[in-house]
Amino acid sequence: MSNVREDRHIEGDWWSEPIPNNVEFGEGFYCETAQIFRKLRSKASRAVVIGKHVSCYAGCSFAIGEYGHCTVGDFTLLNGALIMAEEKIEIGIAYTTRVYRRRASDLGGKLAMVIAGSGPNWRNGAILFQSEDRWIVSIGGYCGDQAPDDPQMFAAYAGSLPMPQIRDIVTHAEPLSDFVSYRYPANLRRRYERLNRFPKNYLVFGDAICSFNPVFAQGMTVTAQEAALLQTCLRDGAADLARRFFRAAATAIDTPWDIAVGNDLRHPQVQGPRPLKVRFINWYIGKLHVAARHDALLGNAFVKVANLEAPPTSLLHPVVVCRVIWGNLVRGARDPDSAMHASAPHSLKS
Ligand SMILES: Cc1cc2nc3c(=O)[nH]c(=O)nc-3n(C[C@H](O)[C@H](O)[C@H](O)COP(=O)(O)OP(=O)(O)OC[C@H]3O[C@@H](n4cnc5c(N)ncnc54)[C@H](O)[C@@H]3O)c2cc1C
Repeated sequence: MSNVREDRHIEGDWWSEPIPNNVEFGEGFYCETAQIFRKLRSKASRAVVIGKHVSCYAGCSFAIGEYGHCTVGDFTLLNGALIMAEEKIEIGIAYTTRVYRRRASDLGGKLAMVIAGSGPNWRNGAILFQSEDRWIVSIGGYCGDQAPDDPQMFAAYAGSLPMPQIRDIVTHAEPLSDFVSYRYPANLRRRYERLNRFPKNYLVFGDAICSFNPVFAQGMTVTAQEAALLQTCLRDGAADLARRFFRAAATAIDTPWDIAVGNDLRHPQVQGPRPLKVRFINWYIGKLHVAARHDALLGNAFVKVANLEAPPTSLLHPVVVCRVIWGNLVRGARDPDSAMHASAPHSLKS
């Protein structure tokens, strides 16, 4: 038996508002007051999904931000719980990988090429040196735009990238593995540092706190940083460990989260907050990608930031800014093709 009326008000509730329309609940839902949803800011259609026979008492709070989602399982009893939503930026990244025989002359002797997705062509690809005679090739796109696991169609997909080098290699090189496909639905961050209490002798770590679009190759680095931070926290004893650790981990996560999510938000179909700062940075990164097609220094500068070897501010160094301007105004005028594709092959020299 539920105490929620058909108009979504709660029987005898002192709070005048109904349960918000984007809260879905199963049979037998007992809710002491709809006030627990006063901090629900999410506009998502099913922002809170509550299972069957769930009881929520006053003092709980669903503090869920603009793009947050939250699921509460069947038979849960919530008493005084602060529910923090996951920050989720759905991207539907999908890519397909295969290993190929490498010849020393491939890519003019370079060790890698990364083609970042940029409008209007959001497909991306990477060919990376694995050993003297092996390349690993990954290509894919956003929103489920996956490269097929068929040799001809894989080569055709590679041919749709703004630069031909990956297609040229996969068309002729000897395959050394099967295709492997991978899908990654969303960047996901859980804000444990905002909880005012946490179970004793228990911690959350690595991807369980935050996982990023794997295209940016940051997760292991951040997890290793968290391990170092945990060691530092443990040196100061076990008291209040969770709060100290989550706060330290949040600081380590902030930059890679901004890099991964900021880049993904350049894609027009990716939903998420785009304040002015993010829009400016994304516009600038698009220009940097254009200029990087002919400027290895810019390509390396971007990859260093993406790989957390340099701070994002390094991309605003006057030398970098001047080369971005030069690459767009001067080279871009001479080479309209680069502006059209607006994508960056970052070639890493041996
Ligand atoms: C395709 C892909 C490519 C990536 N490329 C890179 C990259 O190039 N560079 C980079 O830095 N990061 C990369 N990452 C991210 C990186 O792999 C993760 O961020 C990192 O592994 C996170 O470490 P973790 O310990 O939190 O989780 P994991 O490495 O996933 O370890 C969790 C472990 O827990 C085990 N486990 C799960 N459930 C249970 C259970 N119930 N009981 C017992 N064990 C359980 C799992 O089997 C797993 O071994 C990539 C990720 C993916 C998916």
